Amino acid sequence: MSSTPHTTAAADKVLPAVREIAAEMVALRHQIHAHPELAYEEFVTSDLVASRLAEWGYAVHRGLAGTGVVATLRRGSGTKRLGLRADMDALPIQETTGLPYASQVAGKMHACGHDGHTAILLAAARAIARQPDFDGTLHLIFQPAEEGLGGARRMIEEGLFERFPCDAVFALHNMPGSPVGRFGFKEGPFLASSDSVMVTVTGRGGHGSTPHLTADPVVAAAHIIVALQTIVSRNVDPRDVAVVSVGAIHGGDAPNVIPGSVTMRLTVRAHRPEIRAMLRERITELVQAQARTLGVSAEVDYHWRYPALVNDEAATRFARQVALDWLGEDGVLPPLQPLTGSEDFAFMLEHCPGSYLIVGNGEGDHHATGGCSVHNPGYDFNDAMLPIAASYWVQLVRRFLAPSA
Ligand code: ZN
Repeated sequence: MSSTPHTTAAADKVLPAVREIAAEMVALRHQIHAHPELAYEEFVTSDLVASRLAEWGYAVHRGLAGTGVVATLRRGSGTKRLGLRADMDALPIQETTGLPYASQVAGKMHACGHDGHTAILLAAARAIARQPDFDGTLHLIFQPAEEGLGGARRMIEEGLFERFPCDAVFALHNMPGSPVGRFGFKEGPFLASSDSVMVTVTGRGGHGSTPHLTADPVVAAAHIIVALQTIVSRNVDPRDVAVVSVGAIHGGDAPNVIPGSVTMRLTVRAHRPEIRAMLRERITELVQAQARTLGVSAEVDYHWRYPALVNDEAATRFARQVALDWLGEDGVLPPLQPLTGSEDFAFMLEHCPGSYLIVGNGEGDHHATGGCSVHNPGYDFNDAMLPIAASYWVQLVRRFLAPSA
């Protein structure tokens, strides 16, 4: 075989049923991109997704987690059930790409490519509906509020997997910095848990010239921040992953006034539940002990947010094999390392085996090349990846729900 560049190889393998609709699906992606909606407000996007899927013959259910959409297609007498999930929400970011289809809404932007994920799953849905050569039940899950507000958790709490049981569930995310249309897989722990902590240090304010008459929360906060850095370096096994970052600190308004209180906000991440629990314990203890030593009090408000994302071994091997059999080694990224980002899909994987995979969005550092990082005002989803990823979903459906011989 000739050594065609992998991007061309993958693009060449786009399924005819996807190729026919690719231009239309890219236009749909641009339409979603131009009208971004934030968590739980995906009303127009949800209407668009639901109406298209109904047109194409899916049984559409709406209302889980408010704007969530689940579309079902059954074929044959097979009993296997497969779930594919896409996210629909945008971010509170002012877009700076200058693209013709840039956000028309001030301060809101699809800066994580969820417009692309939604369009990919719609393209796959349409190709599958035109040529439904599978046996069993396919559930397409379009979730709201992936960005921090737990749309997946809410869909599950409202009965997602009771109403739409799945034997396995899969999701994908674009990855800037990786070659366009190359697929990445990771068995076991892949993304970190993500918890947020608010610490309020309360002392007794007063004049900056008479510190002995105050209980200074600023000095105490400084000690606490330094002490927090010892948790990862001294309490966590060096072979484990953990992050404790203080991202915000607020207190005081004037150089000569000692304020009454200081607040701090932290993000805390880990890959293993034991480490996650230990971090909570140590952060709470250490903040309280430091505050006591310095004559102030401290309140620790701990929010468990997203659990670590752990991919099922067998489901991940299956997902990788689908890519390998279709694209060969060139279509698959080298083995991935665990990342410290987090993902709402982790909740789905707590309830159903499955796998979360990545697809290269392009290299370079500019939006035109797809390399600009997500959550950046210059980010753009790479349309070259859309038909490749949609073809991958179609292949995965055909393989998972293959008619038994
Ligand atoms: Zn995202």
